[in-house]
Parts: sequence; C-alpha cells; structure tokens
Amino acid sequence: MARERACRVCRAITSEEKCWNCGSADLSTSYSGLVVMLVPEESELAKSLGITKPGRYAVRVE
Ligand SMILES: [Zn+2]
Repeated sequence: MARERACRVCRAITSEEKCWNCGSADLSTSYSGLVVMLVPEESELAKSLGITKPGRYAVRVE
C-alpha cells in the first residue's frame, strides 16, 4: 500500500506529491482520523472542517 499523506493546509489525503485539493506541497505523513466526504454541502462535519470538495480528509494533521 502506498504511503499516503495529508495536506497541512486543507487536510485532504493524497498519494501524489501535491495536494489534489489546494495544490499545496506541504504534506504530512503524521495524521489521524479519516473522513470520506461524499456530499460536503450536506454535511455539518464538512462545514466544521472547512471541506468543500468530495474526497478523503484527515481529521487531524500534525
Ligand atoms: Zn490541500
């Protein structure tokens, strides 16, 4: 399994060199919690995390 990283800016999970969501290269291998967001428009959790696009996100990034 490829080592995935979480974006420190928007918390998106990515296996690429850059974040697919915001384009940042500030990625961390140290994260906890995983949220799969399908319809962020309808999710209170997405709002509280600042998520606007569907995808996988870490709850906490260190
Ligand atoms: Zn990002």
